[in-house]
Amino acid sequence: MTLDEQAQILWKDFQPQIAYLSPESQEIVELAFWQMVEAHGEQKRKSGEYYIIHPVAAAEELIKMQMGVDVIAAALLHDVPEDTEVGLDQIEKIFGPNIAFLVSGITKLSKIRYTGEELYVENLRKMFVAMSKDIRVIFVKLADRLHNLHTLNHVSPEKARRIALESLEIYAPIANRLGISYFKGEIEDAAFPYVYPEEYKELVAQSQDTVEERLKELEDVKTRVAAILKDENLQYIELVGRAKKYYSLFLKLREKKEIDNVFDLVALRIVVPTIADCYVALGIIHKHFTPLPNRVKDYIANPKPNGYQSIHTTVIDKSGIVFEVQIRTQEMHEFAEYGIAAHWAYSQGGKNSKQTAQEINTAFVPGEQLKWIKELVTLGSEEISQEEYLKTVKLDLFANRIFVLTPKGDVLDLPTGATPLDFAYKIHKDIGNITQMAKVNGAMVKLNHELKNGDLVEILTNKKQRPTRDWLDWVVTRSARKYISHMLKTG
Ligand code: MN
Repeated sequence: MTLDEQAQILWKDFQPQIAYLSPESQEIVELAFWQMVEAHGEQKRKSGEYYIIHPVAAAEELIKMQMGVDVIAAALLHDVPEDTEVGLDQIEKIFGPNIAFLVSGITKLSKIRYTGEELYVENLRKMFVAMSKDIRVIFVKLADRLHNLHTLNHVSPEKARRIALESLEIYAPIANRLGISYFKGEIEDAAFPYVYPEEYKELVAQSQDTVEERLKELEDVKTRVAAILKDENLQYIELVGRAKKYYSLFLKLREKKEIDNVFDLVALRIVVPTIADCYVALGIIHKHFTPLPNRVKDYIANPKPNGYQSIHTTVIDKSGIVFEVQIRTQEMHEFAEYGIAAHWAYSQGGKNSKQTAQEINTAFVPGEQLKWIKELVTLGSEEISQEEYLKTVKLDLFANRIFVLTPKGDVLDLPTGATPLDFAYKIHKDIGNITQMAKVNGAMVKLNHELKNGDLVEILTNKKQRPTRDWLDWVVTRSARKYISHMLKTG
């Protein structure tokens, strides 16, 4: 196949997918497409395919989320400055500063003098800086990474493993923190076989039959639920059964769970028009099936820290089939799949791309969801070793965060394992330094008490109080430890 034939085939398939964009936006994307084809020209991927396949595949992932014109164009152009003769300045000239900025945020730093681990850390830092300026950079980066993972069978085993491991350690957690479970799940499942080949084979062999059997049962349940909802006059938008992703199943089983006790191995999802309908649907489900105790979770009233909303319940039918039901509105569903990206896509409808990460943060996201990105950026400007930076980044991404409340109702975001002392230092170092006692949900606790999600924490101070050596063992946050050591040294 010639390059031109390949490009024509790709375009024919690509064009209808961007019909949701305005005619002007479609023109910009079309221009980006053909500029990209011209720039990459005859270049080939390791697989022997034309290189142009890769940016198109990345852009298509973002089209699924109905991303705006800037993101789609940037995805098409993302490897142009790095791998071709066409520079960023030219992209800026043709497509303007917004698209050029997104492209520059994704471009690797290979031309700079760092090597090995240092280069890697520098790239990460640069990525967090770019993300903090415009969160859409990471959407393109995740799409790029996902396609690269899907084509790992064409690179050497060592390189494949390294890329896959990095994806599990850095990119999937970022997607998770942003609530983009679509990318999180896809990236994890694509990387899993390369990082844990033995475990993967074992898991597939072990679970395939169970999953298939459960899915078959669920099909049956689905038909019955559909009839019940019709009988009860509840309109629904979608009713689907789905199986759990392999990697998340792997993590669950690693917590020593038996596969037979994983109740959300398959789940039935009901998407309904309004929030009120969600509760009606829950009532109907509980009327016809018996709910298991302590398995009803109302994430609509109490969203997860990453903003996820849904009602979950696990029920059992007369024949003993246990299944999980997830009930949500269409908007919640899109947020569940695409997280912050879903909001972004919506907000792009009328506006253009001037919105910054900060604006999305305040406009849509509960709590201080994007603050951690900024913290990773500031951390990058501190005098710490590359090694320590990488460790902190991984810790911060991996750590499940808890959200606790101040007596005034402000929400603070802390890593799991955090104590009232971490909380006090998070408010201010001068509060931390004179912390004497703490109350959690109204009851006195020790200063090394482990806080839980949703705790209301009150700090009682005493001006005569000073940090003691023990305190170093009672905190998990880096900043608290830093302030305590400082006080211990200087008094
Ligand atoms: Mn790429």
